[in-house]
Amino acid sequence: MTAGATIDPSLRSGLARTGLRNREHYPALVIGTGIAGLTTAFVLASAGIRVLLVTKASDPKDCNTFWAQGGIIYQGENDSPAKLVADILRAGAGISNEEAVHFLANEGPRVVKELLLDEMHVPFSMNLEGELDLTQEGAHSVSRIIHAGDATGHAIEVSLLNRVKNEPNITMATEVTAIDLLTTHHHPGDIQFRYRLTNECVGAYLLDNRTNDVFTVFADYTILATGGIGQVYLHSTNTRHAIGDGVVMAHRAGARIMNAEYVQFHPTALADKKANHFLISEALRGEGARLRNKRGEYFMEKYSPDLKDLAPRDIVARAIVEEMTTNKEEHVYLDLANFYNGHQPIAERFPNIKKACAEIGIDIERDPIPVVPAAHYFCGGVLVNTSGETTLSRLYAIGETSCSGLHGGNRLASTSLLEGLTWGYYAAHSIRERLASGSSSASPAVQRALSSRAPGRGEVDPAMLGTIPDWRPAGSQNVEDPALILQDWTTIQNTMWNYVGIVRTYERLKRAVADMRQLGTRLTKFYHEAAITKPIVELFHGQQVAAIVANAAIRNPVSRGAHFRRD
Ligand SMILES: Cc1cc2nc3c(=O)[nH]c(=O)nc-3n(C[C@H](O)[C@H](O)[C@H](O)COP(=O)(O)OP(=O)(O)OC[C@H]3O[C@@H](n4cnc5c(N)ncnc54)[C@H](O)[C@@H]3O)c2cc1C
Repeated sequence: MTAGATIDPSLRSGLARTGLRNREHYPALVIGTGIAGLTTAFVLASAGIRVLLVTKASDPKDCNTFWAQGGIIYQGENDSPAKLVADILRAGAGISNEEAVHFLANEGPRVVKELLLDEMHVPFSMNLEGELDLTQEGAHSVSRIIHAGDATGHAIEVSLLNRVKNEPNITMATEVTAIDLLTTHHHPGDIQFRYRLTNECVGAYLLDNRTNDVFTVFADYTILATGGIGQVYLHSTNTRHAIGDGVVMAHRAGARIMNAEYVQFHPTALADKKANHFLISEALRGEGARLRNKRGEYFMEKYSPDLKDLAPRDIVARAIVEEMTTNKEEHVYLDLANFYNGHQPIAERFPNIKKACAEIGIDIERDPIPVVPAAHYFCGGVLVNTSGETTLSRLYAIGETSCSGLHGGNRLASTSLLEGLTWGYYAAHSIRERLASGSSSASPAVQRALSSRAPGRGEVDPAMLGTIPDWRPAGSQNVEDPALILQDWTTIQNTMWNYVGIVRTYERLKRAVADMRQLGTRLTKFYHEAAITKPIVELFHGQQVAAIVANAAIRNPVSRGAHFRRD
């Protein structure tokens, strides 16, 4: 897209519809409208900072956050940060970043109170005494999770979105896909700028999904809040947007990716293709439900004598796979009807699960629920510190796309909404401080000198931005053949499910690495010939994130947490 080009008004969407101009410069560009992105955008805007907030979805609610059911960690009776730390570390299988764990346990509940309870008034469920209803989930030592029925993510997302929509400092654009990060080592047309030792992220190329125009957007700080990677697996609880774009873009730009082999599989997704692997929340097992096989044997005691049905997710998922393989069954059952011990009637406590199951003829108050494991949460991602800073200057990553090390080898239930919220909040504070420290009373020349000595503070160098070219399309052929794209997605999803899934071996991983490499070679060629569109970018990113995960998994021979090697 060249500056000032006009667009047919009937095609106006995304950036064009927002009135944004090509080569616009924002203090903050936030990519993603889940809990992480909305929190950062809101906190930044409240501090008077202009934000461009984009999502590739047509509805900003269309993200994993919206589908979160069980709840978000707050604080239980007789609870303490130390107890939460112990639970998270136990789930993390010995490789959590202790600093991140302590940070979440100490700061997280305070941010829930400040933002979600006092500021947003999220309608969380109350108990009969009129207090927040606290529930328990797998591997938590106390009841400390607050929820809004079984649609917690819905309540949080809508509350945040309503506030963000009314923030004058936020420009929000839907159907806008970030396709590449702009960096000082890769993009300046003037080579002098590329000699700077520190690589900085200075914005992104953004694709308008409807017009296929690519806009150059500059930002002093770019925040990746692009969520998980579930869609690279055949069975996944994630929305169709969870492809790992953020991880891939950060990787290409030179940021460090960590713990990519740790993909958490949720043990209990509804075993029905029509139901799109609707998640059957852990809260059901927290409130009594037990797993059994077709023969009616309640099997979890065999695999985890102490925690039984409330064992960490990886143990439960492998137990289910073992039962399915041994008994040649396509799924197992979750028995809620016979064991429910919650305060409210089942229909009130789990209305959405009841509805989803009813659509396939299952009455959860009477029938056992057929369940299978599905790819659910990415414990790895773009390496960040407790402010959300990545190893690439001026690039932040928050929420599921990041790897703070909080989850280590496996995630404790209901920590991820809290992580997105807490890191979203502190990333905004970090950016605010850095922008403020860059706008000192020193002359612009002195500020520039300081900022080149201490890169990453204040605003980016406008002279350098001027030399960054607009997107140069690699190809121009209209080769977006849905059959080709579908077949390549089938290859990615089957390869990941069968070879880089719940149980991994060296031979399977070797095959996966080779197959993804071969597909990558073909797709790179395809990408360079094709005119750019969202489906093509997503396919390209899906293959790249699959390769990142498969390579991390083959390099790590140690079974730990969600990464299980049977060799
Ligand atoms: C079914 C389900 C139930 C869950 N239940 C719970 C629970 O009870 N408690 C809990 O703590 N966690 C739960 N989780 C996990 C939790 O919901 C997620 O980890 C969390 O919501 C992720 O938030 P996020 O902001 O990082 O990403 P998301 O909410 O997934 O948002 C990602 C955003 O990035 C956008 N995006 C992605 N790529 C691009 C791009 N290239 N350009 C522009 N936009 C882009 C997407 O469109 C979307 O707006 C659940 C997850 C699922 C799927």
